[in-house]
Amino acid sequence: MKIVRVGLDVPVDTLFDYRADDATGADLGRRVLVPFGRRTAVGVVLELAQHSEVPVAQLKPVVRIVRDEPALDAADLRLLGFAAAYYHHPLGAVVMNTLPQRLRRVKPTRAAPPRAFALTAAGAHAEADDLPVRALVQRRLLALFKAQEILDPAAMRAAGATASRALQQLVARGWVEARAAPVPPRQTGVVAAPPLTAEQGAAVQAVTAALGNFQAFLLRGITGSGKTEVYLHAIGAVLDAGHQALLLVPEIALTPQLENVVRARFPSAHLVSLHSGLGESDRFEHWRAAQSGAADIVLGTRLAAFAPLPRLGLIIVDEEQDASFKQMDGLRYSARDLAVVRAQQRRIPVVLGSATPALETHYNAVAGRYRLLELTQRIHAAPPSIACIDTRGERLADGLSGALLEAVGTRLARNEQSLLFINRRGYAPVLMCHACGWLSGCPRCTAKLVLHLQDRQLRCHHCGHCAAIPVSCPDCGNPDLAPLGQGTQRVEAALAARFPQARIVRIDRDSTRRRFAWQTVRERIQAREVDILVGTQMLAKGHDFPHLNLVGVLNADSLLYSTDFRAPERLFALLMQVAGRAGRGADRGEVLIQTEFPQHPLYAAVRGQDYGAMAETLLAERSAAGFPPFVHQALLRAEAPSAASALDFLAHAAQIGRQLPQAVTIYDPVPAAMVRRAGLERAQLLVQSDNRALLQQFLGAWYARLATTRTRRTRWSLDVDPLEF
Ligand code: ADP
Ligand code: ZN
Ligand code: ZN
Repeated sequence: MKIVRVGLDVPVDTLFDYRADDATGADLGRRVLVPFGRRTAVGVVLELAQHSEVPVAQLKPVVRIVRDEPALDAADLRLLGFAAAYYHHPLGAVVMNTLPQRLRRVKPTRAAPPRAFALTAAGAHAEADDLPVRALVQRRLLALFKAQEILDPAAMRAAGATASRALQQLVARGWVEARAAPVPPRQTGVVAAPPLTAEQGAAVQAVTAALGNFQAFLLRGITGSGKTEVYLHAIGAVLDAGHQALLLVPEIALTPQLENVVRARFPSAHLVSLHSGLGESDRFEHWRAAQSGAADIVLGTRLAAFAPLPRLGLIIVDEEQDASFKQMDGLRYSARDLAVVRAQQRRIPVVLGSATPALETHYNAVAGRYRLLELTQRIHAAPPSIACIDTRGERLADGLSGALLEAVGTRLARNEQSLLFINRRGYAPVLMCHACGWLSGCPRCTAKLVLHLQDRQLRCHHCGHCAAIPVSCPDCGNPDLAPLGQGTQRVEAALAARFPQARIVRIDRDSTRRRFAWQTVRERIQAREVDILVGTQMLAKGHDFPHLNLVGVLNADSLLYSTDFRAPERLFALLMQVAGRAGRGADRGEVLIQTEFPQHPLYAAVRGQDYGAMAETLLAERSAAGFPPFVHQALLRAEAPSAASALDFLAHAAQIGRQLPQAVTIYDPVPAAMVRRAGLERAQLLVQSDNRALLQQFLGAWYARLATTRTRRTRWSLDVDPLEF
């Protein structure tokens, strides 16, 4: 009897057996429709078998194996298999959740083939100057058509976020028309590569020499040292060899910008992006292009780490230290770590790029497992000067010191841009009653409700709970409630009051919620229509603003004395990244950090811009304290309506773990750093070992035992190599 073993998206760690009399080896990796309970479910064929544990009478036949579309190949399945085994997550759930939404449905809606557009005879004679001066995107799009004649929608996006509207306008003018024919190969060389510096050349040389073999590289280069250029050259070599390149970035906000750069450099290559900001049908099309081998370059966020790529020749992970590469729920994978595993499986090189590598990555380079490539010089400008503003003994007006306000004023007078960085959005992180000490707490979380003055709301940033701003203290009736601390909105308001003539924009998740909002703001900044930027982390990453010369950092101290052992490393990375925004143009940048601890060694390392010194100090501390990378960790997380159930479950789990033969360290269950979230009590149990293989063996056995434990109302999950405690 022929049996297919099918992975389904269910939280049970097993495959499901079905009869499929015509199944062959070619069906492995194919989607399959099967009866499941009272419904039909979609799964993927993961194994073939002759026999089943299930009695023959109970075995149901498959509804249909989907044979008219490409299957996941053996290499794809191997990566998914590794992820399921390493992160101890059901294989079926892993496989199904990496498929685009459309393929997880029983009835996939057929996608319309992407249409191409071409210049008409009238369009060929039209000039940019026939268009209104302000119709920038139309002008750019027309220029693209003039260069290439036929464009698909993906290529048109290079003209700007509103390219599709501009396209309609060009169609309405009769200059452009739809074409059924496929897009012919475009000519190359629209943007020429600059000659590489000696350091860049050596890095490119090392990576290209490794093509066809596994080698992990750490490309460490301060911001502005030209890491992107190294990526582009390496990608060029991969394309020449007829292979695909995968480029992973941490943020969706970064993809359009980088997409334009890559597209301009390789106009004849087929580039697709993969990230959660794409619509369902784009995501499906792009995934398919990757899988069919049609796409030469895939640019994406962490979920692209799993994109099927039959001709894969190189993986690049930019800003590899970024915590967004780690998925924080469901399959809690690290896209960066999977990239290294994938490179190893495929015998290809992988490049991890960063100005401030994760200590784990740095340590791998020190230990010789990764090869270190260094870029020590900024290409255009000198590195910024970094200084601390000692705020002890000063009463800060809305969080801004006199020295910082003065520096902003000076830049303003010189018509230069300033950026004020603060790690919190909203107006103030909490509302307070000075009469009785009442603080605006979230009823569902161990967290404070943040004051959002513009929307006249108190909001929890963890569970989304919203409340109206009370007119008086709910505890004592005092009508004088005061905002405590600063958020981006308050800083923005204070700056507007102090510099009424300045053009100020605020950039955080509240201000950029609308789909192309960020792109528009970015264009305004580049066109010097903005004097002062106030923003959160969103602004820290990879943006290139040539007229921005002053960066002020508020509230960095809040990260200095965190209980998380990774906090200093993150603060250093964040400050170097923010500092990297200053002085990208011709002028030297200046960075001012407000702090009450100007003598702290971490700030000394930041002022010296010395990653090596910081890494050495922190590694010594981690080694002494027995923290990663010197040990390997896993966290069993539990949440339940009552703290007792969560802790009881973990105590029971610890007991099971102590009976297992592997001698790993099992700590006692403790409440999570954020004890309550969205109405659930949270607790965790840490296990660790200096031997990764031993820890993995333990986790495998432990997970199997836990999976059969009755837990009543407790939800639990395993987090291997946790980044958050
Ligand atoms: P990083 O990614 O390391 O922060 P970028 O790759 O953004 O640095 O490079 C900084 C700037 O220098 C960019 O404007 C880039 O175009 C330019 N650049 C990079 N390499 C060279 C080079 N070899 N010659 C001239 N300009 C370069
Ligand atoms: Zn009160
Ligand atoms: Zn909450």
